[in-house]
Parts: sequence; structure tokens; C-alpha cells
Amino acid sequence: MALFAAVAELAEELAGEPGKLKKRTAIAGAISAVHAAAPESEDAGLFALYLAGTPFAEADARKLNAGGALLSKALLAVSGANDVALTAGYRRHGDMGAAALDLLVASPAAGRAAELTLVDVADAFAGMAVAKTTLIRASLVEEMLRRATPLEAKYLLKLMLGDMRIGVKQSLVEEAIAVAANAPVEAVRRAVMLEADLAGAAKRAFAGTLAEARMRLFHPLGFMLASPVDTPEEAVERFTGKPEKVPAVQEKKPRKSKKTQSLDADAEEFSDAPSTDVIGRVEPVNAVSENVAASPARGVEAFLEDKYDGMRAQVHCGDAGQPGRVAIYSRNREDVTESFPELEEAFAKVRPEQDGALIFDGEILGWDLEQARALPFAVLGQRIGRKRVSNEWRQLVPVVFMAFDLMYAGGELLLELPLRERRNRLEAVVEKLVERVVSPVVVDERARDSQTVLFAVADGASVERLMISPSRLVESAEDIDRSYADARARANEGVMLKAAESVYQPGRRGLAWVKLKRELATLDVVVTGAEFGHGKRAGILSDYTFAVRADDGGLLNVGKAYSGLTDAEIAEMSAWMMEHTLEDRGFFRTVEPLMVLEVAFNNIMRSGRHASGFAMRFPRILRIRTDKPVEEIDTVERVEEIYQSQVDKPVEA
Ligand code: AMP
Repeated sequence: MALFAAVAELAEELAGEPGKLKKRTAIAGAISAVHAAAPESEDAGLFALYLAGTPFAEADARKLNAGGALLSKALLAVSGANDVALTAGYRRHGDMGAAALDLLVASPAAGRAAELTLVDVADAFAGMAVAKTTLIRASLVEEMLRRATPLEAKYLLKLMLGDMRIGVKQSLVEEAIAVAANAPVEAVRRAVMLEADLAGAAKRAFAGTLAEARMRLFHPLGFMLASPVDTPEEAVERFTGKPEKVPAVQEKKPRKSKKTQSLDADAEEFSDAPSTDVIGRVEPVNAVSENVAASPARGVEAFLEDKYDGMRAQVHCGDAGQPGRVAIYSRNREDVTESFPELEEAFAKVRPEQDGALIFDGEILGWDLEQARALPFAVLGQRIGRKRVSNEWRQLVPVVFMAFDLMYAGGELLLELPLRERRNRLEAVVEKLVERVVSPVVVDERARDSQTVLFAVADGASVERLMISPSRLVESAEDIDRSYADARARANEGVMLKAAESVYQPGRRGLAWVKLKRELATLDVVVTGAEFGHGKRAGILSDYTFAVRADDGGLLNVGKAYSGLTDAEIAEMSAWMMEHTLEDRGFFRTVEPLMVLEVAFNNIMRSGRHASGFAMRFPRILRIRTDKPVEEIDTVERVEEIYQSQVDKPVEA
């Protein structure tokens, strides 16, 4: 019976080992040893699963339901330490597991011999998943921690929190399994992708049955992502491998400075047709158009679609084994089905015997039923995360699924087919289903309460919930540029370009898909406060609140950002903030407003979150502007201008 101590000791060793190859060798060696000691047992699989930082296989819907609060309580009970000591430890490491080690080495647990087996841990996790009360769950955790050595406790807590922080991704464990079992790594990866069961794949690898792995629905496959490009020409270059020739006379203009950008930038940006000069060459109509060449590029074999600003999702449906079951997964692999009952009801109409099991990739969009176009993300955002979606919300923010890829159909994974072929199949499937995948705007809520959600009585018109994202082959940078302007005019974020012959690469941000979107504008702001970070940024002021200038010359906060700076810049900023603290409120400090930053964002929303009455979506720091005096930062008026220049003028709930 393998001990959990083996996982903890290896994890501790790997945390201090930067070399990937050495890590893989160490993991493979450990998995081999565990397997050799008990070849018929589940040990090697559990070992791999836990080392990858996952209490259950991905295909397993069970959850531990143990968050930081429950675990810290259990830790306090077991260690006899008080809150202050735990908080100090947490502050020191930014990690409860590491804090636990500090607390427990000073307790009787320090002298304990390792005895907790991998199966003991699996049993405790199974118990936690079905525990009816928090009390039962907490007592299972405590019992496990009481039997653990300090090092085991450290990694048990990290495992339960789902964050091992040892620099070991699941893909590295897959490689190690392949080495340990002397199997091809692609075969291990494929089995994991199909069955979403790392422990199961380890077992198959040793048994030589990897080829027998079969696709199971109802676990998320990785999402393919796009790389950003700044201009249509860059997109063309990506797909043809050569830059599109730009006529010599057409020099690259500098981007307009935001100071001179006119307020009616949108009117310009969204004008339907670009103006042409006397020789018929296209004149730039906006920053994205700059440098657009007249001659069409040859061989741009790419599909162009709008880039929607909704929520990326994967829909699984039509499984013969579980007819009527629908699962919707988000980009971070969470099951979000409950939050979109209209889609669940609609996709439940996919019939296993007629349509077969299907997996779609696409975007969930809030949908304006009257105008037949997407609602701004800020509107959809208000209902994301709601578990119980009332009729009021169903009416206020109706949702549709905009499909842009087909990952599984006809009993076959389609990922390795070229996009051109997947697209053909998607079109055929959507055409067949579009009139069937419908659900009413509102449902009889009493019927739903009695668990008959899928057959709830319609009370109002039915809505087609499955759409297909319009897509066409592009020809040139000019063509892309025009489509970009059209997409923006439809209030979409920009455009996506996808190589026609490309395969679907799950979980990859490759070059086969590119996205073209432009920063709306940037703002120069001054930092007014800073917050301590978490994890490797514990003890460092890494989260900055910033302000713009008000009409009366005062400062009004407008946002908060933590991304964009390098570690070295953050360290420098943090030291500076410590010295320029005005008020120390523990986790947050107000600082002298002297540090100017340039920030970018996806859009500006009206919001009560900050004193300026605005907030930013996805703010990120572009650079520290030591060159700019605080007197010259942007104003609330400028924020209002940018806000007004947006097609949709989002309001945060
Ligand atoms: P980003 O969030 O900027 O990294 O862009 C990637 C995201 O664009 C994806 O996760 C999708 O949610 C979204 N997206 C919007 N429209 C499309 C589309 N037509 N094809 C692929 N992804 C899209």
C-alpha cells in the first residue's frame, strides 16, 4: 500500500527543482516504483492523480466542497494554533499548505511516522464528496490531518485547494506516465483527452490498453485559443508566411495620440466604405487600416468570423447512454449548465438515435431578440454565475449559443479534421437542428421546481437557441480591415481568422487562429492605493488602485489592475509604495499619488465601484510612465468621452 508521504516528499523535492526534464524523470521513477510495489492496485493511478494536484479525475463529477474557510478551521483545530499565527504564516507564504507546515512542525505532529495511504486519502475524499453537512466534511479533513505528518498536511491542504504550486502540470505527469510504462506519450495524452481520467490512463498505460480508450461525453475538452495580431497585414502574414507588399508611397502613419483622437472616432471607425483616392488606393479610415495594401494577398486560406464578446462554452448533448442530458462547460472547464437553463432545455432536444452525440464549441451570447444581435458583455455578465435563473432574468437577458466549431459528431472526434471539413459538418448539423433546438423565453416555474425542467410548460414564444457564426474565406488585408469595421459596427469585439486547413488543437493558443481587436484607447492614471498579492506575490504590493483627475483638480479612482508589469517592475513598485504609504490598512495601503501608469482595458462601464462613477473591464498596465508628471494624467472628462465613444455603453450592475 503506497503512502501519501511518497506524494508529499516528491512534491517537496519538485518544488525546488526548476528543470522540467529532471522533474519528469523523478516523477516517472516514482510512478514506476509505486506500480512495481503493487501492480494490481490503484496506487500508481492515484499517485499520478494527486501529484497533478487533482483530488478526482476530470470525468468524475464529484467535488470535495471544502474551501479555504473549512480547511483553515480544521488546521487550527488540529495544530492548536490560533488565528494570528495562521494569518502570519499565510502572509509569509501566500499559501495555506506552506503555512500549515510552519504551524505543525512546532506541534506533536512533528514526531509522527507516516502511515496515511493513498487509498486512505481517496476514501476520505470520497466521504467528503458525499458528506451531507459541513460538520461531517470538516471532521473527515481533521481526521486525515491528525494522522498526517507536517509535510503530508502541507500537500494534503494544497491538493484539497487544487493548487500544488510545484511547477507540475498535468501534461508533465502524462509524459512521466509514458516514460514509466514505456508507452508513447501521444497515446497517453489521447486516452486522457478521451476519458478525462489521469489515473485510468496510468492504469491503461501499464496494462497496454491505451488504444482501447473511447471518447466519453460530459467532461470538457480543451478549448483552442487564438493569438493576437495588431493589424490585418500581420494576420495575412501569419497565413501566407510572407508580408503583404505595401506600396512605397504609403508610409506608415504614426498612430493618433489619444490626445488628438477625435471624439467621433466611432463615426469614422464604423463608416461603411473606406474612401478611395484618385488611383483607387484605399485610404486608411482608422488605426487598423493604416498600411493596408491595395493588392489582394494570394493564398490567404483563412476563414473570418466576428469575434463575439460573450462567454466561450462547449456544449455536450445527444448521448445515447444519457438521453436528454446536456452539459455546458466554460473556458476554465467548469460545468455552467445550471446557469443557462434555456440552453439546457433546448439542447436536450437533440436526439441520440437521430442526431447522435455532439460536442459544439462556441460562444454564449446575451441576445437582443428584437434586433437579432448580441447584447453587450456587461449585460450578459449580470447573469453569469447565477445558479437559479428566474423568469425575470430569462426575459431580461435571453441567451443563445453561437456555434463556431464542431468537435465531436457521428461517434467520431473531429479535432483532427481540417477546419474546412469541420465547418461543413457544423453547417449540416446546425441546419438540421436549428428549428428543434428551441426553448421558451419563460417557463412555468412551478413545473421547474417539481424537477420537470426539460418538459416545462411553455409560457410565451419559443426562441431558437442554436446559431451558427457566419464565416467566410478572406482574400486580403483590405478585406479583413473592412470586416473588422463591420464587426465593430455590430458591436462585436473584432474579428477572428482561422486557417482553413488547421486541425483543432485543444488547449492551445496557436497560430492557426488569430484575433484582431484593438485597444479602445489607453488612459494615463495615478496610483492611489495598493494591495498585497497572493501566492508568489504574498508580501508584495502588487495590486494597484488608480485614479484620474476630477473637474475640481482632485483625484477620483477609476480602476484596479494587477496584470501587465514584470516581476522586477512589481518588486520596484512595491518597495516604492512601502516608502510612500499614507495609510496602512493591513492588506491595503493608500499611497502618495505620484506614480503614473498607462493602462489599457476592453471597455469602460458606468459603475458604482469607484468614485469616478466608471470602472474598466479587463484593465491591464501597459507601462510605468516615469516620463509623465502627475499634473498631466487623464481626466474624468476623458473617461466619459471614451465611454460615449463605445457602441454599447455598458452599465455594471
Ligand atoms: P481572448 O479572450 O481575447 O483571448 O480571445 C479568445 C476568446 O475569443 C475565446 O475564448 C472566445 O471566447 C472568443 N471568441 C469570440 N468569437 C470567437 C470566434 N468566432 N471564434 C473563436 N473564439 C471566439
